[in-house]
Amino acid sequence: MKTLLITGASRGIGAAIARAAAAEGYNVVINYLRSVEAAKALAAELNQVTSALAVHANVALPQGAKLLVEKAKKRFGQVTHLVNNAGISISGLLTDMDYCQYDSLIDTNLKGVINVTREVVPDMLAKKSGAVVNVSSIWGVKGASCEAVYSATKAGVIGFTQAMAKELGPSGIRVNAVCPGVIDTDMCRGYSESERAALADEAALGRLGTPEDIANLVMFLLSDKSSFITGQAITVDGGLL
Ligand code: NAD
Repeated sequence: MKTLLITGASRGIGAAIARAAAAEGYNVVINYLRSVEAAKALAAELNQVTSALAVHANVALPQGAKLLVEKAKKRFGQVTHLVNNAGISISGLLTDMDYCQYDSLIDTNLKGVINVTREVVPDMLAKKSGAVVNVSSIWGVKGASCEAVYSATKAGVIGFTQAMAKELGPSGIRVNAVCPGVIDTDMCRGYSESERAALADEAALGRLGTPEDIANLVMFLLSDKSSFITGQAITVDGGLL
């Protein structure tokens, strides 16, 4: 039985991945940090079609990642598939940011990915199978003004993905990254209507992305349909870059 653990899955891109995975018959572990009600409601919804479990954990902390994976294993035996999706965005000039802000970005967006991967990989190695998808960003590919630390964390996720693909490939485990463009989620709620329209105009396809646009690629990368793809960072941005 396939079990997918998704970090930061109570809303946005993570929730879309959880719904897509449930529709494909995965057991689904919905990790959340703050939104207990949303996570429990999503688990109840998905339990209509599969087995789903909501687990509170702060993936930025090694202990949080450890407890998350322990709870997932207690319920489902093994985490066979992993999506490292949890992330935060803090914008501003580098010189206006304080140390706490960039520690938070690095701890969540980069160390969070490393922490959870580390906990999940031993069982995958024992079974010599598994797939991991890390959610990076187009700003990890190109870099964005006023997003320097965010961009650095997301570039770090791509480096980690490529390295882990090499480390785990000989054991039959694939590791890929997706790099979303501007996706219409709570993370973009800071944009005004005119900023949203301008960002949509910049994309060749003339619109913002949806969480489902990302979930479609993630499900492909988790599946055997992508069995010869590893170490890739694939952009999903409607032609923005
Ligand atoms: P979102 O804010 O709706 O979702 C992020 C989720 O991560 C939230 O539920 C949040 O609670 C959770 N989270 C944050 N810190 C956590 C922690 N320490 N432990 C556990 N969970 C934690 O935003 P989203 O757009 O759905 O973002 C999902 C991912 O996609 C993020 O990694 C983000 O950087 C990336 N991304 C988003 C966009 C976009 O335009 N929305 C673009 C590129 C990349």
